[in-house]
Amino acid sequence: MTRIAIVGVAGRMGRTLVNAVAQDAGTTLAGGVVEPGSSLVGADLGELAGLGKLGVGAVESLAVIVDDFDVLIDFTAPQVTLANLAFCAEHGKRIVIGTTGLSDAELDELDGYRDRLPMMFAPNMSVGVNLTLKLLETAAKALGDEGYDIEVIEAHHRHKVDAPSGTALKMGEVVADSLGRSLKEHGVFERVGQCGPRRADEIGFSTVRAGDIVGEHTVMFATEGERIEITHKASSRMTFAKGAVRAARWLADRDNGRYDMLDVLDLK
Ligand code: NAD
Repeated sequence: MTRIAIVGVAGRMGRTLVNAVAQDAGTTLAGGVVEPGSSLVGADLGELAGLGKLGVGAVESLAVIVDDFDVLIDFTAPQVTLANLAFCAEHGKRIVIGTTGLSDAELDELDGYRDRLPMMFAPNMSVGVNLTLKLLETAAKALGDEGYDIEVIEAHHRHKVDAPSGTALKMGEVVADSLGRSLKEHGVFERVGQCGPRRADEIGFSTVRAGDIVGEHTVMFATEGERIEITHKASSRMTFAKGAVRAARWLADRDNGRYDMLDVLDLK
């Protein structure tokens, strides 16, 4: 039985993760961390998640539960995640990271831990999105150099703080890699004013932020006469949480290294 701790347990994903662990036969909920000083310290994790009492109280530091867990699941914010990664490396723990919006420097810092512990890092943990990445690879190879314009469109709820979404960027990267292009050079993240006609090799991004949209991504391949759209729509955060719990179980038997969801799903 894999013992799981969740950091950011009061957040949207944190609460959903409590539900996902409670439903999973192969894992147990060993603890949950809230922000230091939070009024929720001591609150029952089950009650926080709307499940009724589970008998595990929220703590304000990983140090308090260091002996109780095997794998940490972290969906918080970049600097919080990096501090937790250092903690896990130091204490022989494993970590599943869902946090998005890391800068290039923060991604380099994260990558520096790849030989120090088993870590799984993916901007989207839904099985459907990861399958979509494989479909995009196939589509890009067949269409991308044949006059099809490629655009990535994403929509999320009004509270999301980073843009474009980590998933949209990952989709752009997969398409760019399949075509031997670099997203840094070919990605277009803003069009405003007299920006001129579209370059054939651009990969464009558009972002919608509205209401309670859980997460929608479309990659469009458009040419004269036809358009192909590959779309994924998440209707509940449970899809991400279940993926994260599955990843935590999978990670429990892995050697040190940096893995992603395609490794977990054996889609590589
Ligand atoms: P949220 O704002 O609802 O939750 C974040 C939580 O982290 C908050 O409750 C906050 O109190 C907590 N937190 C901040 N600092 C902390 C600290 N030092 N210790 C403990 N807790 C701390 O946000 P959310 O919607 O749950 O999303 C969180 C992250 O997960 C975002 O980066 C989001 O993009 C990402 N996300 C990833 C996936 C995926 O599949 N990989 C899916 C959904 C969201």
